[in-house]
Amino acid sequence: MVKRATSRRGTAGRDAAGLPPESPAVLARRARTIVQRLARRYPHAAIPLRHASPFQLLIATILSAQSTDAQVNKVTPALFQRYRTPADFAGASREELERAIHSTGFFRAKTRAIQNASRMLLEQYGGEVPRTLEELVRLDGVGRKTANVVLSVFGVPGIVVDTHVRRLARRLGLTAHDDPDKIEQDLMAVIPKAEWSRFSLRLIYFGREVCDARRPQCPSCPLRDLCPSARYGGFPPWMAPRRAGRIGRAGRGHRPRSARRPRAVASGSARRRGR
Ligand code: SF4
Repeated sequence: MVKRATSRRGTAGRDAAGLPPESPAVLARRARTIVQRLARRYPHAAIPLRHASPFQLLIATILSAQSTDAQVNKVTPALFQRYRTPADFAGASREELERAIHSTGFFRAKTRAIQNASRMLLEQYGGEVPRTLEELVRLDGVGRKTANVVLSVFGVPGIVVDTHVRRLARRLGLTAHDDPDKIEQDLMAVIPKAEWSRFSLRLIYFGREVCDARRPQCPSCPLRDLCPSARYGGFPPWMAPRRAGRIGRAGRGHRPRSARRPRAVASGSARRRGR
């Protein structure tokens, strides 16, 4: 059962977003129980992108923007066979690299990002992948999500906010925000630090298996008693404005998902333009 707040302290943002009132202490306790249940369900959650080194994971994660892990995993074995080091990627023919990653989508922007990031690794980090978030997000095509995925293999805790984590954090009432950076901050505040990386991964698995974007399995969900969205079948009123906006845009000829630029890759280009 989702407990109601006994105190209104610290609930202003949640109230404004339309979330059920909940004190910070009750929210933290509920979050810890969610962490424990997901840990029991996915005791060995592993990064689904195939990789044999932090550098390969960096490349695979850049490729995964607006693609699927399965599609990226089809491409990377041959890719990593052919290009093994940052120098290989930096010196590769642009056209050949574009062909090699074509099926992951946005292949021109991704090729540009991979080659720029590889050059920067060579020029500034001796060809090694840096181990801090601040350094990683300076690489072209790398946003906080990609950086946190890569940091997890170094044992550095981080919350990865992908589309599943974003949706589940909102449905589970762990955040009142829609912006990934704010969601990351909210989750960091209520999830024990040692669990940050594993929790993100487990939410991603859970989002794929149970709490699907279109067909959440609320009646049989193992988090049902902890989830304020259960009574709304997974579509709570605090997420309604965004849904309404999406329907509205679709009605005006909304561009399909495949026509949009990947966020991290686009942000890297924006940085080069000095934004
Ligand atoms: S109860 Fe429904 S909305 Fe909540 S986590 Fe489970 S499937 Fe998702």
